[in-house]
Amino acid sequence: MSLKTCITGANRGLGLGLTEHYLHGGAQVLAVARQATSTPALKSLSLKYPQRLILIDADIAQAETLGELQKHLEQEPLDLLINNAGVILDRKFNFQNLPLDALRQSFEVNVIGTIAVTQLALAALKKGQNPTVAMLSSLMGSLADNSSGGYYAYRSSKAALNMVTKSLALDHPWLLTVALHPGWVQTDMGGPQASITVQQSVTGLAHVIQEMKNKDSGRFFNYQGQSLPW
Ligand code: NAP
Repeated sequence: MSLKTCITGANRGLGLGLTEHYLHGGAQVLAVARQATSTPALKSLSLKYPQRLILIDADIAQAETLGELQKHLEQEPLDLLINNAGVILDRKFNFQNLPLDALRQSFEVNVIGTIAVTQLALAALKKGQNPTVAMLSSLMGSLADNSSGGYYAYRSSKAALNMVTKSLALDHPWLLTVALHPGWVQTDMGGPQASITVQQSVTGLAHVIQEMKNKDSGRFFNYQGQSLPW
């Protein structure tokens, strides 16, 4: 039986890399993106894997766009949800000039939208094999690691996501729930000067997810499987 996965933000960056990785490995993928069905990279993957890739247009921060995803999740069990979609909107701002809309939108995507998708997926995960939720968090969401300040919207939204990860793990012992830091990765978000490629990060993340045991639920790891401080 092939692994059934759902990956958000599947149209570019780490989400696209994860989608390719799981398809190459024989998994079925529900690929969620704002414009999944019109993204050339996803369209060519769906020609290559017509039986195993389903493209779903959804903006995770707009609840009214999640109907099609909900319909698919009601039809089949799900083994792995990767909550990858995320935004960083406050690179150029300090505390004084941070637009509150940037703060709101960061929480809408990184926390609220991620919770909304996870809520929709929970019943399907309950029917899955070794059901797992992987949250693409960031070391920038670690309170213990914060030695340089700034990034109020991004850091606080990822810290909130970390807390969601912990509570979800405690409340749902049948589910493996982890927060993952992908490294500093060469994507639109990470920039070209980042230290690792999408391929390196994705290979590591997938390995960490595959090796996850019950005792790891509610914890925070990097793409190399090293435990990170909250
Ligand atoms: P990226 O290249 O900027 O891609 C972000 C993805 O999220 C895109 O597919 C984007 O879709 C999607 N997205 C944003 N808002 C969305 C929404 N409302 N609904 C659906 N999809 C939405 O970022 P990345 O580097 O691949 O990062 C992926 C994850 O890893 C993020 O959660 C990020 O915080 C985390 N991370 C990345 C790094 C790094 O160095 N790259 C480091 C630490 C953590 P659109 O194309 O529609 O905008």
